[in-house]
Amino acid sequence: MAVTRTFSIIKPDATRRNLTGAVTKMLEDAGLRVVASKRIHMTREQAEGFYAVHKDRPFFGELVDFMMSEPVVVQVLEGEDAVTRNRDIMGATNPADAASGTIRKALALSIGENTVHGSDSDENAAIEIAFFFQPEEIVG
Ligand code: ADP
Ligand code: MG
Repeated sequence: MAVTRTFSIIKPDATRRNLTGAVTKMLEDAGLRVVASKRIHMTREQAEGFYAVHKDRPFFGELVDFMMSEPVVVQVLEGEDAVTRNRDIMGATNPADAASGTIRKALALSIGENTVHGSDSDENAAIEIAFFFQPEEIVG
């Protein structure tokens, strides 16, 4: 299997509860390596742009407001089959449906405040990484 990259966000519900390290440890224990990381406070433009694919969904306004509510940590993760590996350790979108041992099962508060974002395909990973990082910020 090839070593690939994915994009992750530690969301405001996690930074607010001081869980940045706890989330990162679960990612690392799952075989992912943090090759870029920065703590930012998203602007409305960033939040709306990043989640533009969801702009017609009923929860879009709530999602954008949430992502701007507190700082987040944006990360590039590297590992074998990184997109799938990360989605597996994240767990289902709704923590009530998430498998035991996953980040969302252990830490998420609700379907909205669900602790982590992870890219859903290699193609989207590349787009999302480029949205927040310059190539020289990624050190593998
Ligand atoms: P995922 O983050 O698992 O890829 P989606 O891409 O479907 O899930 O949704 C993006 C984000 O929008 C979710 O992680 C969650 O924060 C929020 N969200 C999704 N569905 C709902 C919902 N029904 N109500 C509130 N927020 C939601
Ligand atoms: Mg998604």
